[in-house]
Amino acid sequence: MLKIALGTSNPHKLEEINDMIQEVHPDSVEFVLVEGEFDPIENGKTFEENSYIKAAEAAKIMGIPALADDTGLCVDALDGRPGIYSARYALDQKSKISKLLNEMKDVEQENRKAHFVCTMTLVAPNGEKLFSNTGRIDGYIDTKPSGEHGFGYDPLFFIPDLNKTMAEMTLKEKNTLSHRARALRPMIEWIKSNLAD
Ligand code: IMP
Repeated sequence: MLKIALGTSNPHKLEEINDMIQEVHPDSVEFVLVEGEFDPIENGKTFEENSYIKAAEAAKIMGIPALADDTGLCVDALDGRPGIYSARYALDQKSKISKLLNEMKDVEQENRKAHFVCTMTLVAPNGEKLFSNTGRIDGYIDTKPSGEHGFGYDPLFFIPDLNKTMAEMTLKEKNTLSHRARALRPMIEWIKSNLAD
């Protein structure tokens, strides 16, 4: 089975991505976390640059192709913030949620639109960029967190069509429509056609 390193230290991402690939092409590719220290400097100016930085570092350490995503929450009323700075918006995830709720406290429902962006990049061990793709999902910033699933900003990200937040979805549901799923689907097909047997 083809092994691809995943340039992240977030086990939720590993779980989501392995679940998605098993669904479409069972037993063809296994994503593994980077062994040892993994602390790339995410100083890119775009989601794509940061996903490349993470994937290139993972590929170099592991000596196999590596995939990384860079994800951000872009809030219309905050002119797209936190965007590429979503990971550094506050110290921990609880503070990120409370800071966002606070920044949005006077914003009316119709102006609470937001979207998640996820760019995924696949890099060879020699640093060559093999494939990159972006996915997006639109929703609203809720006025309070709801739901126990998912991670990060999921409890605040409300999807009107489903009448629930991303944290109220099961992993399977999130993986049918999320920004990461939308970025990953064409990536999986590329990997299957170009790298897997
Ligand atoms: P990064 O892509 O790991 O740098 O994540 C940036 C920030 O967005 C972190 O605070 C993550 O917790 C958050 N984040 C990444 N993916 C998701 C997601 O699928 N749902 C909610 N928050 C996310």
